[in-house]
Amino acid sequence: MQERTNNAGVKCLKCKREAEIKLSYADLCVNCFCSQVEKRIRKAVREFNMIDKKDKIVAGISGGKDSAVMLFNLKRLQDRMGFKLEALLIDEGIAGYRSECKKKAQKLCKELKVKLHIVTFKKETGKTLDEMIKKRDKLTDKKVKTNLGACSICGVFRKYLLNKKAKELKATKLAIGHNADDVAQTFLMNIMRSEVKRMKRFSPAMDETTDFVPRIKPLIFVPERENAIYAMQKNLAFELRECPYAKESFRGEVKNFLNQTEQKYSGIKFNVLNSYLKLGREFENCEKIMASNNENSAEKGLKGKEPKKCIECGENTSTEKCKACQIRELLCVKSSN
Ligand code: SF4
Ligand code: ZN
Repeated sequence: MQERTNNAGVKCLKCKREAEIKLSYADLCVNCFCSQVEKRIRKAVREFNMIDKKDKIVAGISGGKDSAVMLFNLKRLQDRMGFKLEALLIDEGIAGYRSECKKKAQKLCKELKVKLHIVTFKKETGKTLDEMIKKRDKLTDKKVKTNLGACSICGVFRKYLLNKKAKELKATKLAIGHNADDVAQTFLMNIMRSEVKRMKRFSPAMDETTDFVPRIKPLIFVPERENAIYAMQKNLAFELRECPYAKESFRGEVKNFLNQTEQKYSGIKFNVLNSYLKLGREFENCEKIMASNNENSAEKGLKGKEPKKCIECGENTSTEKCKACQIRELLCVKSSN
């Protein structure tokens, strides 16, 4: 990707030196552009109280540009604040793709001197993602409806394993490289699927129940394209190629829709993001009211609901068996099929 403009003579909006980066809303020099990205990350960390110096942060990385930018900036913050920082990569087993990403992640962690842990689907579930997809397709051929896209299967196990390993590592926070585009997409997807409750779980710095390591999203104010430019300008090791399953995802379609709309109506993505943040604050207020009502009920002997535990693995769940255990049973357990 070449981001330098050929427009010699165009000035940086901030410092008036020669502009080298052309964004839809401004022309900037490399220095001003990079400090703008860094400022946005610090703003997110500050605004949502994401990090305390006593924290042990485990950064979920993928070998892609977003988590590379996140880890690079967390490392810089660590040097100033003194919290503990390690990285965690989940290897789903996607042939020809994840192994390349893994190499980039290993290189980045080596350069940044951050300890990297790797967890594989194969070891944890008995199957790679590729093998699970084959099994799903076999079931589909036999007219068994699974309603499971590759990204749904992948997402469930990735989330499950990130949390499991982060707990083992005694992390106080799990950092996720979701950028502004990801957040806007997820928000729209939740609306389209009428999954309003999920929006709460998507908050930028959330305090989940005791079984979940609280997740933070330091890149929430940085658009995807700017992450890519920043990663290139800083020469960070990252894999540019997209996951081969991305094209079969609902997210891919929402992403295209948002990108096309943004081209016509500049600023739309940030509007979606801001709507999500405003709603998040409303949720928080409602929760505070509900919590105080629960306290009153508890005083009167009416206890609030305890979170349910999965009967198989003991993780928190809203159903009897958690989603990961349900999929494992369907796609990972050996059978004559
Ligand atoms: Fe997993 Fe889908 Fe992301 Fe590929 S695109 S890594 S399958 S969630
Ligand atoms: Zn379970």
